[in-house]
Amino acid sequence: MGFLGAAAGLAQSGCDPADITARPPEQYRHAPSAIVIFAETDAIDALCRSMGVSADKSIRACFVNGVIYMPQPCGWSDPYAQTFCHETGHAVGWVHG
Ligand SMILES: [Zn+2]
Repeated sequence: MGFLGAAAGLAQSGCDPADITARPPEQYRHAPSAIVIFAETDAIDALCRSMGVSADKSIRACFVNGVIYMPQPCGWSDPYAQTFCHETGHAVGWVHG
């Protein structure tokens, strides 16, 4: 299931959603269409738990009822997060030259 946890009632289970080292098999690695909701990084754990996701460790992201809940990317330094930070700025109205 990867690092995205599943809510109770969904078919996916059996993986600690805090385990970001887990990667899905190749057949699950295509580029999906997905709704992603970002929340402040320190709020993700409580948000996911409020929707039924559980884990022994802190939850860093989750997938519940077709929606991916992710920490907002601007606090992360890797290039992928920087790119997402840039685009989420546009999503809330930022325009640059
Ligand atoms: Zn831009």
